[in-house]
Amino acid sequence: MSSMAPFRLAPYFRTRPWGFRDLRPWYDYQTTGEPIGEVWLTGEMCIAETGPCAGHSLKAITAEHTQELLGKAAAAGEFPLLVKMLFPKEKLSVQVHPNDELAQKHGFPRGKTECWYALDAEKDASVALGIVPGTTPGQIRAAIEDETLEKYLEWLPVHQGDMIYVDAGTVHAIGPGAVLLETQQTSDLTYRMYDYGRGRELHIEASMEAARMTTRAGKVEPVDAGDHSVLIREDYFEMERWPLAAGVAPAELGKAAASVQMLFCASGEITLSGAGFDTFEVKRNQLVVIPAGTASKIASTGTSVIIRIAPCAV
Ligand SMILES: [Zn+2]
Repeated sequence: MSSMAPFRLAPYFRTRPWGFRDLRPWYDYQTTGEPIGEVWLTGEMCIAETGPCAGHSLKAITAEHTQELLGKAAAAGEFPLLVKMLFPKEKLSVQVHPNDELAQKHGFPRGKTECWYALDAEKDASVALGIVPGTTPGQIRAAIEDETLEKYLEWLPVHQGDMIYVDAGTVHAIGPGAVLLETQQTSDLTYRMYDYGRGRELHIEASMEAARMTTRAGKVEPVDAGDHSVLIREDYFEMERWPLAAGVAPAELGKAAASVQMLFCASGEITLSGAGFDTFEVKRNQLVVIPAGTASKIASTGTSVIIRIAPCAV
């Protein structure tokens, strides 16, 4: 039995040149300073807002309670998944992340596989995902030099509700017009391959080493599981979508798991209650961390949509 209680985390707003100065209606956040592009929901700097660990950072909580918080996911020694919301107003640079093997060859604990769930998308929203089949590494290098890499990228339209899997080694870029919930392995390893001639620093050798011409990246169809749907179940993470009616949610959503899990409130509002902690609310665009081995009772105030996120070693 875990002695830890579930806790809600405060989001952490990160400045990015491609973001927005006004995040309404997603968050009541406006700034006259640098635009905000990413809202980190499980960053190590995020602060717990409820429970006995309130006021402490996720990094400190994870360090203090590694085993009881993470359970089966404790081996890595840090919080296993980084969950963010992305607000791109302009297109992001073209990037690639190494896989575990390559990251470890360079002395880092792990690479970065990620996925994007489209919370919203405008009509022309798109992402670049992978390289046009038949393209050679030589052509990629030449196109980076000539600032014409766009022609070798596979562009994919994005619609609300799409789940897009981006395995390590996939050359990718996010265009404007979508709001994405990103789940990724906890890793900083990002190599900028191309920036459309905007002049930011490129990591050409590292990105050419990490890039694979063929990957498994692409849209993932949801699998109906009765009262919820499985959005993705892949190496490193699984995500489920639970539409809830007003009242008590199905017990399965609140059941204890062997590893830490997270609930993100995509719409509506829920309350969490259970043995050993005070009932608290989770509102739209907030995230709650549920320690391993901890059960909770979930009730929806009206209709709501909960995205359950958990680490997964397939
Ligand atoms: Zn990425």
